[in-house]
Amino acid sequence: MSRPLTATVDLEAILSNYRYAKQLHPTCKAFAVVKSNAYGHGAVRVAQYLEGDADAFAVASIEEAIELREAGIEAPIMLLEGVFEAAEWELCVEHNFWTALENPLQLESLLALGKPIEKVFVKLDTGMHRLGVSKEVAAQYVQTLRESGLVGEVLLMTHFACADDLADLTTMKQLTYFEQARQLIGGIEASVANSAAIMKWSVPEGGWIRPGIMLYGISPFAEVSGVDLGLKPAMTLTSKVISVRNVAEGDKVGYGLSYQAEQDHQLATIAVGYGDGYPRAADHGTPMLINGQAAELAGRVSMDMITAKLSSESAQGLAIGDDVVLWGAGVSVEKVAYWANTIGYELVTRMTSRPKIVYR
Ligand code: PLP
Repeated sequence: MSRPLTATVDLEAILSNYRYAKQLHPTCKAFAVVKSNAYGHGAVRVAQYLEGDADAFAVASIEEAIELREAGIEAPIMLLEGVFEAAEWELCVEHNFWTALENPLQLESLLALGKPIEKVFVKLDTGMHRLGVSKEVAAQYVQTLRESGLVGEVLLMTHFACADDLADLTTMKQLTYFEQARQLIGGIEASVANSAAIMKWSVPEGGWIRPGIMLYGISPFAEVSGVDLGLKPAMTLTSKVISVRNVAEGDKVGYGLSYQAEQDHQLATIAVGYGDGYPRAADHGTPMLINGQAAELAGRVSMDMITAKLSSESAQGLAIGDDVVLWGAGVSVEKVAYWANTIGYELVTRMTSRPKIVYR
């Protein structure tokens, strides 16, 4: 038997979540955001499955975009951060990529190349202060790009800093600034919404939405799960019990002996660790299922293994070969992330190449 750690990815769930995003905004087109290997779900397989439905794909770098083209993806592909160096424009033209544009170097090198690009999204800094330009500079960029005759369509985009916090007024302020920029420019298509905004904020109709995390059935909100939002979780990470022992009250377990048994109980050792992407920061009590029973982490996460116990004191019967669900069906990624003091985005994205990915 090979190491029994498997990420099972439900491609149909991803497609259904994409359709759900579009249903919420029937006047919009939607990028399927598949950067960072489709948030750990496998960019090529995800894009191949969505092609035909997805209006376009969005990635973070030209390497990610080329990987999709070379795998046969013909739909438009957008570079969310634009090009990092002038030489990339040539590849954008060759492969027909769309790009964000947010700084003078990107603008000047595009103009210097003098070759046509289908769509450019000028990025407006509406308050996140990470990428983007002011509304006045954006208006100049739009005018220059339009006058250059090189760009098929110039659009205006921005990104929200706090859309996952429904009580935070920053999103409203960002939307107001975005509308002011649109008025200054006059007649320009918009792209503003990430998953949180798609599901909970009122965003401009028409234009392009950019669902990422929701495609994978994971909630962008701390206090609500993907399932509660009507999403279908796409990834289930499973493994097996590889060793079982009895520990007595007072016994300590694992690196640093950081866990101490409060009573006699069985302890299962499971094949998964931080070398696979399971978070080392996960605290004692982090939930999982063993043979369908509620179980929890007991002991520090090692590189290749974790130790766990059944949550109910009366539960018994752990055995080598028992099935373990680490996250996905029955244990949300969001909950595991909470116990590791992180977010669902990070857990799925930082999975390493060790777990087998199986598609269904
Ligand atoms: N748009 C941009 C510019 C992004 O950087 C991201 C992801 O970080 C997204 C959209 C998708 O965001 P989310 O995964 O929260 O839907």
